[in-house]
Amino acid sequence: MKKNEILKEILAEVDKHPEIMSRRDAMKYLTVSPMAAAILAGATAGATEVQASSVKGKVVIVGGGLAGMSTAARLRNSASDLEITVIEPDPKSCSYQPGQTLVGAGIWEADDIVYHRDDKLPSGVTLIKGSVTAFDPDNNSVTVDGKQEVKYDQMIIATGLMLNFAAIDGLTGVITSTSPDNAEAKKTVGHDGVYSIYFQDGSEDTWKGIQELIAKAKTHTGPEKLQAIFTHPNTPIKCGGAPKKIMYLTHAQLEKAGVREKVELTFYPNGGKMFGVPEYHDAIVEQFKTRGFKWNYKHNLIKIDKEAKTATFNHHWTEKGAWDEDLEEYGVELKSKEVTAPFDFIHVTPPMKAPDVVAHSKVGSSKGWVPVKKETLQHVKFKNVFCLGDVVAVPMGKTGGSARKQYKVVVNNVISALEGDQKAIDDTNTKYAGYTVCPLVTGIGTVMLAEFNWTKKPTPMVPLDPTQERWIWWLLKVYLLKPMTQYGMLAGRA
Ligand SMILES: Cc1cc2nc3c(=O)[nH]c(=O)nc-3n(C[C@H](O)[C@H](O)[C@H](O)COP(=O)(O)OP(=O)(O)OC[C@H]3O[C@@H](n4cnc5c(N)ncnc54)[C@H](O)[C@@H]3O)c2cc1C
Repeated sequence: MKKNEILKEILAEVDKHPEIMSRRDAMKYLTVSPMAAAILAGATAGATEVQASSVKGKVVIVGGGLAGMSTAARLRNSASDLEITVIEPDPKSCSYQPGQTLVGAGIWEADDIVYHRDDKLPSGVTLIKGSVTAFDPDNNSVTVDGKQEVKYDQMIIATGLMLNFAAIDGLTGVITSTSPDNAEAKKTVGHDGVYSIYFQDGSEDTWKGIQELIAKAKTHTGPEKLQAIFTHPNTPIKCGGAPKKIMYLTHAQLEKAGVREKVELTFYPNGGKMFGVPEYHDAIVEQFKTRGFKWNYKHNLIKIDKEAKTATFNHHWTEKGAWDEDLEEYGVELKSKEVTAPFDFIHVTPPMKAPDVVAHSKVGSSKGWVPVKKETLQHVKFKNVFCLGDVVAVPMGKTGGSARKQYKVVVNNVISALEGDQKAIDDTNTKYAGYTVCPLVTGIGTVMLAEFNWTKKPTPMVPLDPTQERWIWWLLKVYLLKPMTQYGMLAGRA
């Protein structure tokens, strides 16, 4: 796509919400910002910076979501003689999941973020419409839908993760974010006060839920406030900021409707902090205080009673234990108790896990996630297996922003592996350094751009205080990252 066509598309989006940002402000930023220029260049046809290789071989990519399809495109751009196969069952696998937060808050429509897998398949790449049901890495093969054996020289695992609603007593379904096969989850989520933006249909329902809450607040007269609860589970999750983003946006919509004072907003995270990076933790606590949010650390949602409209949490903490004569120190006792809270609206961030077929196979691990050397993304046991995206066992890596760094490393390393050059994999300068980004939407029109890596220090791309909420990051998050993903990353360039 040409740069001015992308610009036109961005400005059309801006025009939909003139109350948030004027076309003039947007143009100003788009024309002067080096970051906007870099993103637009990445999303523009012809901007590819891949290394060309004439290597031959058969590469199988399991999972054609954001990470898998982008990797297929970049491999295709880099090594045109490769036989590349993507195995993916979901016709909407490439949809823009970060947009689910904005759909959930009534800012975007579902149509704005649904892309069709078959339109995103790079030319010359074979698609098998099915699921891998068995991995046999000792024989370099996988089985599709229990019947078709597919052989490979190199395999890339990009299956993403599963949303495990069923792990919460009272909820049902174990699904992916975009899958149409979500009937089980929809039996208990998306109505009657229980919502989740973590799957596509669920995000549309969340906006209905927020509107119902607003309507209820408008007629609410009792002395007690209505209760809106937002949870964060005890497993690794994709986009760690999303549970808070939907809370900020619910607050913004309640304010806009003039009913904010009728509703109490409370965050229940399993952890004891708002964010793993101290600078961002401190900034979020201040943002919560300014908005009058409440929060209760170390609460893990275990049960929802839809009839009684209550949520039950396992509240856990540690206490000083008995004196240990041998170690000559006090032990630590783990304590917990059940805490039940009433709700009128609850946003559930479900526990997440690696797909069982991966977790229970030889390529998985005791925790499910695929174990790799974290800088090279090469499997710890099988040298011709690489992994990236939400399913890979690297710290803090479950975002599209991480996948964007990872897929370039995987492509280089798969090509080196096919060339028989393990030394290039181990020595390469393009090692993954753990970069991830969380554009924390803090209101309609403001974002704090939390960028960091394994050092747990802020790693901002531009020299601006990264703990400040800014409208330019709204422009980046809401208007620029979608075309960058759609035309840049999914084309193997950005
Ligand atoms: C609400 C929400 C908000 C988010 N916000 C942001 C954000 O602001 N910024 C950001 O960077 N990221 C964000 N993300 C995260 C980002 O979307 C994911 O990290 C990214 O999509 C991961 O890509 P992936 O390819 O690993 O997984 P996915 O895109 O989920 O794709 C995995 C694919 O594998 C397929 N698959 C699964 N099992 C099999 C099998 N056995 N055989 C074949 N195929 C299989 C699935 O069908 C799926 O299509 C958000 C996500 C959500 C849900």
